[in-house]
Amino acid sequence: MSNDVLITNIQRFSLHDGPGIRTTVFFKGCSLNCPWCSNPENIKSYKEFYEKNSIKGEYGKIYSNQELYNILIKDKLYYTTREKSIIKDKLTNIDQCRLIYAELPGGITFSGGEALLYLNKIEMVLKKLKEENIHLAIETSLVASRKDILFSINYIDLFYVDIKIIDKNKFKMLLGGNLDLYLNNLQELFATKKKVIFRIPIIKGYTDDERNIMNILHLLYKYKPLKVELIKGHNLGSSKYESLKRKIPVIEDISDEFLEIYKKNIEKIGLWVEICKI
Ligand code: SF4
Repeated sequence: MSNDVLITNIQRFSLHDGPGIRTTVFFKGCSLNCPWCSNPENIKSYKEFYEKNSIKGEYGKIYSNQELYNILIKDKLYYTTREKSIIKDKLTNIDQCRLIYAELPGGITFSGGEALLYLNKIEMVLKKLKEENIHLAIETSLVASRKDILFSINYIDLFYVDIKIIDKNKFKMLLGGNLDLYLNNLQELFATKKKVIFRIPIIKGYTDDERNIMNILHLLYKYKPLKVELIKGHNLGSSKYESLKRKIPVIEDISDEFLEIYKKNIEKIGLWVEICKI
């Protein structure tokens, strides 16, 4: 079996995919098919042709482990370690979480698509990056086999985990995934005491109903992640849908007031939460 991987983008000097300055790797291929996805070019696990402003091209490029490593190690100097702060006893949980996060160094973030599906193919890269003491993060829906989760735990320092829809039928019908698998993986991950940041996409008509919000608040209360990020849905993927000749999803605007109320409800649990509009 070849260990080459299909990647749509390797973004250097990224400031939005984790702490510090990072390089983000976007794998092509996902275990879900979310109707609001802003990276539609990363859903299928094979190369796809696109046409944009009369320019034709291909989404997806194959990289060997060595090629990938050579790119990722280039910016090692920028993945600098940050100042250690002294955590005092009397700080609130939110203050402590902020301090822990502030200390995390830059590094590399694996994204997609679903990066968990591909980490075992780049084990040589992961081993070498760890030998170089480089901080590794992943952005994941956590919809992958238990084996993939356990594998990732050996290498990944920080997990950005989506919480989308906590309803078995809707999870299957709307996202194409298995909620039980997701919940079991969540349990497995938290048992390891790894750092986890939850990301909640707020998408009108899909994730913003009262029942879903209650279910999500229960999960937040149960697991108490390092941080929660509320992600406002956006139409930034429109041009990619066009280039793939796929129907552009309609993402309706969510009011700032709704987001503020959601944020306050999470803060009541004692968690650090931020509204992200990227
Ligand atoms: S999990 Fe992420 S990449 Fe995959 S379809 Fe959903 S939004 Fe897109």
